[in-house]
This record gives sequence, structure tokens and C-alpha cells, in this order.
Amino acid sequence: MAVERTLSIIKPDAVEQNNIGNILAMIQGAGLKIIGMRMLHLSRAQAEGFYEVHKDRPFFGELVEFMTRGPVVVSVLESDDAVARYRNLMGATDPVEADKGTIRKAYGTDIGENACHGSDSVENAKIEVGYFFPEYLLR
Ligand code: ADP
Ligand code: MG
Repeated sequence: MAVERTLSIIKPDAVEQNNIGNILAMIQGAGLKIIGMRMLHLSRAQAEGFYEVHKDRPFFGELVEFMTRGPVVVSVLESDDAVARYRNLMGATDPVEADKGTIRKAYGTDIGENACHGSDSVENAKIEVGYFFPEYLLR
């Protein structure tokens, strides 16, 4: 199994509901190491750029509105198999369908406001880590 890095975003709903600490505890409890972290309020351009792959989806406008509504916590997570490990910890996109013990089951509200983001492949993880932490691509 390879050591990987993945990008996590604690989304505005979870920040508003004071769940930053709870989610970070779940991340660390799953054996993912937090190796970089920033709290920031995304601009419209940053959110649109990050979710560029979804620009033709019907929910794109709603997604950008949501992601720019308040601050988020972006972090770089590292472990063996980090991409799949964090996707498993997050649970399904729709919290109603997420398994017990996942972040989205515990703290997500609905399919849009689902508490967290995680990269979906090693390739996308590199792009997403580079989007917020360009200096990490050198290490
Ligand atoms: P995931 O975050 O699980 O990888 P997607 O990449 O399909 O899910 O979608 C990106 C984000 O867009 C989701 O996490 C969610 O915030 C939002 N989203 C997805 N589907 C919908 C939908 N049907 N309506 C509103 N927002 C959605
Ligand atoms: Mg996705």
C-alpha cells in the first residue's frame, strides 16, 4: 500500500455548526495525519475553479453559493491509502445514504450541505492539494 496525500475541506455548514473539532477528531481517529491546514473564506472565483469539473451540472450555482457562504477548513491528509481511507470515512455524498460512523452521517444535512469534501482519486488529489497548497507539490 502506498503512502498518499488527499485534500479535505470542512465545508461551511460544518464550520457554522461548530463541528471542526469533531471532524478533525474523526480524521485523526481513522489514522490520517494532518500535514497542512488553512482556514479561509473562499472567493467565488476560488470555489468555481475548484469545482470546475461540475460546471455543467444543474447544482453548480447552488454549490458555489454554499461553498462561499462562510469560512472552510482545508487540509492535506497523509496515510497509507489516504484517498480511499478518507472517502470511506466521509461516507456517501447524500448523508441519508451514508453509513453509520461516517462524517456525513454524523454531521451532514443533505446532498448539498454534506459537511466535507475529499479528493476522489490519487490523480485528483494531486491537483486539489496543489490548488490550495502549491508548496506541497515540491515535497
Ligand atoms: P462528492 O463530494 O461525494 O465527491 P460530487 O463530486 O458528486 O460528490 O459532488 C460534489 C459536491 O456537489 C457534493 O459534495 C455536494 O456538496 C454537491 N452536490 C452533489 N450533488 C448535488 C445535488 N444533487 N444537489 C445539490 N448539491 C449537490
Ligand atoms: Mg467529488
